[in-house]
Amino acid sequence: TSQDSSDLVHGFSFELGVRASEQERNSHLIRPGFGRIHTDHMVSISYDRQRGWDAGSLHPYRPIVLDPTAMVLHYGQAIFEGLKAYRQPNGTIAVFRPMENANRFNRSATRLSMPQLPNDLFIRSIRALLHVDRDWVPKNLGQSLYLRPLMFASEPMLGVRPSDQYEYILIASPADPFFSADPTPLRVWITHEYVRAAPGGTGEAKCAGNYAASLLAQAEAFDAGCDQVVWLDAIARTQVEEMGGMNLFFVEQSGDQTRIVTPRLTGTLLAGITRLSILQLAADAGFQAAEIDLSVDEWRDRCASGTITEAFACGTAAVIAPIGEVRSSKSSWLVGDGGAGPITMRLRKSLLDIQHGISEDRHGWMEEM
Ligand code: PMP
Repeated sequence: TSQDSSDLVHGFSFELGVRASEQERNSHLIRPGFGRIHTDHMVSISYDRQRGWDAGSLHPYRPIVLDPTAMVLHYGQAIFEGLKAYRQPNGTIAVFRPMENANRFNRSATRLSMPQLPNDLFIRSIRALLHVDRDWVPKNLGQSLYLRPLMFASEPMLGVRPSDQYEYILIASPADPFFSADPTPLRVWITHEYVRAAPGGTGEAKCAGNYAASLLAQAEAFDAGCDQVVWLDAIARTQVEEMGGMNLFFVEQSGDQTRIVTPRLTGTLLAGITRLSILQLAADAGFQAAEIDLSVDEWRDRCASGTITEAFACGTAAVIAPIGEVRSSKSSWLVGDGGAGPITMRLRKSLLDIQHGISEDRHGWMEEM
C-alpha cells in the first residue's frame, strides 16, 4: 500500500486511517457479495448556500453525525449514484463512463432543489478515493469496486423548504458479479397495484424516496415467487417502464431481422447508463436498436407469437440479466423457452469485455483512474 507523504490527494486534505491488513482485505475480497463491506476511506465535501462547496476531505470511513432536525431526515432531499471501477489486465484501474453519472447526479440534484456539484469535483473525488483505496479493487475476473456517491440535506431546520446546507459523500464497496457466468434467468413480477413514478414526479431522478416507495411492491414480487418488480406507467397502467433498479430490453425477430428495443425515456424512467451503452453496442453488432412503447399485452402476445424471443434487465449492479418468466395478478408467461437467450448473452459479454479491459474500448467509455 502506498503511504502518502503529502497531505493532499487530488486536492483533498487527507487523513490516513487504519488500513485493513492485506490478509483481512483479501479475505473480504473472496466473496464480497454486494454492499456489505466498505473500503478504508471516504470523501466528504460540505456545501453551504453562502460559501458554496468547501475544499473537501479524504478521511477514514466513519459514521456521520447528524442533528435530529437535519432536513434529509424529514423532507427527504437525498440523491445518489452507482458506478463501478474495474481492474484492467495491465493492473490499472478504470471506471465505466463516470461523466455520465456526474451529469445524472446533477440532473437529480436539480429535480430535488439541491445544488450542483461541479463534474470535476465528482470525478476528482473518485480519483482521490481510488488513489488511497486502490488495493480494494478486486483482481478476480467479474468482480469490481462499486462506487456510491451521495448527497443529502444537512441543515438543522424543521421548516419545509430547500436546505441551505448539504453533504456530498463518496464511499466504495467491493462487489461480486451479480450473476455468475451462467446466470439463472429472472422471474419478474408486473405490479398492477403500485406505481413507481408519475408524469411530473421524480421518476427520472435517482433520489432515495423512489426506492423507499418501491419496497412494498418488491415484497409483493417476492411473495409471488419473483425476483424483481416491473413497473407500469402511472396513467394508463398498461405501458412497461422499467424495474426497481434496472432498465428493460426486448429482442424482437422478424424474418432474419433482429431488433433490440427498450422503453423510451418518458420522464418517469431512470435514464440508465447501461441502457445507453447497450443501445450503442446493439447498433455496433449490426442489430437495429430502438426506443419504443410496449404494453404488457404486447409483451405477452409477442412472446406467444414468437416475435419477442428474449428479454433482459440491465443496470450497473447486475450488468445484464436475462428474464425467463413474467408473472402478474392477471397472467403469466415464459419469454422464449425461459432460458438465457443467445443475443442477451452476446450483448452481456461484449459489455463485460469492455469493462474488464478484455476487448477494445471503441467508444472511450473506460476512464483510467
Ligand atoms: N432504473 C433504476 C430505477 C435504477 O435504480 C437503476 C440503477 N442506477 C437503473 C435503472 C440502471 O441504471 P444504470 O445502468 O445507470 O445503473
